[in-house]
Amino acid sequence: MPTPEADPITRYVSEHDFKMTIGGKFVDGRDGEVRDVVDPSTGATLTTIPVASARDVGDAVTAARAAQPAWEALGVSGRSECFSHFADLVQENRERLAMLDAIDCGNPVGAMRADIDQCASYLDGWPALAKGLTGDVIPSSPDHLHYTSHRPFGVVGRITAFNHPAMFGITRPLPSLITGNTLVMKPSDETSLSTLALGELFDQAFPPGVVNIVTGGPATGDALVTHPDVKRLAFTGSVGTGLRIQGRGAESGYVKQISLELGGKNAMVVFPDYDVDLAVDGALFGMNLNVCQGQACGSNSRVMVHARIYDEFVNRLADKLSRYRVGVAYDESTDVGPVVSKAHWNRVSGYIEAGVEDGATLVRGGDRPGGLPEFGNFLEPALFADVTPKMRIGREEIFGPVVSIFRWDDYDTMLADANGLDLGLTASVWTNDLAIAHRTADALDAGYVWINDSTRHFFGTPFGGSKNSSLGREESKDEMLSYLEYKVVHTRLGDAKASLNRLLS
Ligand code: NAD
Repeated sequence: MPTPEADPITRYVSEHDFKMTIGGKFVDGRDGEVRDVVDPSTGATLTTIPVASARDVGDAVTAARAAQPAWEALGVSGRSECFSHFADLVQENRERLAMLDAIDCGNPVGAMRADIDQCASYLDGWPALAKGLTGDVIPSSPDHLHYTSHRPFGVVGRITAFNHPAMFGITRPLPSLITGNTLVMKPSDETSLSTLALGELFDQAFPPGVVNIVTGGPATGDALVTHPDVKRLAFTGSVGTGLRIQGRGAESGYVKQISLELGGKNAMVVFPDYDVDLAVDGALFGMNLNVCQGQACGSNSRVMVHARIYDEFVNRLADKLSRYRVGVAYDESTDVGPVVSKAHWNRVSGYIEAGVEDGATLVRGGDRPGGLPEFGNFLEPALFADVTPKMRIGREEIFGPVVSIFRWDDYDTMLADANGLDLGLTASVWTNDLAIAHRTADALDAGYVWINDSTRHFFGTPFGGSKNSSLGREESKDEMLSYLEYKVVHTRLGDAKASLNRLLS
C-alpha cells in the first residue's frame, strides 16, 4: 500500500502558521475563530486556518481603501514593476505552492506545478494589455470635443472556488490590480492554504494594503459581498452561490458591478469521421481527470458520440481509463487524486448511484479503490454509457470523476439536447470537416467552443459562458475593462472664429 509521505506535510504545512494578510500584517481573525484543514488523501486534520468575521472583512476593506489612491497614482508602469517582482516570487515558490494544493485540495502535485507554470502568461499578459489601454474621441458634434477615460472602482472583492487554488490565487487578482484597484480576496474555505501562503508573496511585491486576503466560508464571503465600499465584486463558484450573491449585493442597498464565473455541463460532440483514438484522448484530456479529478468547470461532462463509432469509442475510453492510477495527491506517480472533501465524495457517489438507478450503463469505476488510505476521498473514475438528457447525470453538474457518454445519430436532435440546459459554459466539436465544425460551433449555445481541442484556454481569449454559466468574460481585454468605470469628458468648443477674435483682440 502506498503510504502518504510525511515529509511534504511537515515541510509545507506543520512548520507554518497560516495567517490572513490585512493591511500588510499577517493576522488571525479578531474573534479567534478557526477552521480545520483536512488532507483529502488521508482524512487527517493537518492544521487550522482563520475564519474572518465581518469585522475582519471590514478591516481588510478599510486597508484596501486607504492603499488605493497611492496605488492608482503609481500608473501602469509602476504597477507593472510589482507584477514582475511577484512573478519572480511565484517562480521561487513553485514547489511550495504546488505541494500545498496537492495536500490541501487533493490535486496531483505534477498537475499543480503545471498550474503554477501557466500563471506566467497572465503575469506578463495583464501589464502588456493595460499598457495598450486607450480611450475614445467621439465625433458626435463639430462644436464639441468628447473623449473617454477610465477610472478604477476602488476596492474590488474577489471570491474564488476550490478547484485550482494557487492558480486562482495568483491570476484572479491581476486584472483588478493592474487597473489601479486594490483588492480583498477570499479563497474557498476548503482550500485556502496556498492563497494564505501567497499573501506573504503579495506582501513582498506590493505596497501594504493593496492585496488583502481573508479566509472563511459563506458568512465571510457575504460580509465582503454586502460591504458598502466594495462596488465591484468578482465571483467564481457554483450557480447557486452566484445567484445568492447577486441577490445579497442588491439587498445591501448599493448598486454593485458583479461578474460571475459559474458551472457548466459541457457538451463534447464527436462526429463519425474523426479518429476514434484521438477523440478518446480528447475526452479524457477534456475531463481534467488527471488535473483535478474532473472538478473543473469547463470539463466535457457530456460526451456525445455518433452511433457509427459509439461502441468502439466506449471500449477504448474504458481501456484508457483503466490505466489511470488513483492515489495520494502528493505521490509523484498519482494520476488521479482524491476529491476535495468527504461531503463532495458523498455528493459525487450519490450521482453515480443515480446514474445506475436512472438506467445508464456503468461501464467501469465509480467505487472506492482498494489499497489506499482508508479515510482518503478516493473514487475510481466512473464511465457511464447510454446516458440520456433526462437522467440526473445527464443534466446536472457533478463536478467530479464521472464521464457520461451519450449516443446520437440525428444531428438536430443532438443539437437540441446539447443546448437543452440552462448552462452554457464550454463545448467542443470533433470532426475533420471544416464546414460542419464551424457550423456546429456556431449552433452550440456556449461561451467557449473548441474545435478538435479541449480545456486549453489562452490569455487574451475571453473565457466565460452563456445562460446561467457566467456574467461577463475573463482573461481578456473585456475583463480588464470590467474593472474600470468609463468617464466621458465633454468640452464645448463653440465658434472657433468668435473665440479667436475675442482672445486676440
Ligand atoms: P461554491 O459556490 O460552493 O463556493 C465558491 C466560493 O463562494 C467559496 O469561496 C465559498 O466559500 C464562497 N461562498 C459560499 N457561499 C457564499 C455566500 N453565501 N456568500 C459569499 N460567498 C460564498 O463553489 P465551489 O464548490 O467552491 O466550486 C465549484 C463550482 O465552481 C462549480 O459549480 C464550478 O463549475 C464552478 N467554477 C467555475 C469556474 C469558471 O471559471 N466558470 C471555475 C472554477 C469553478
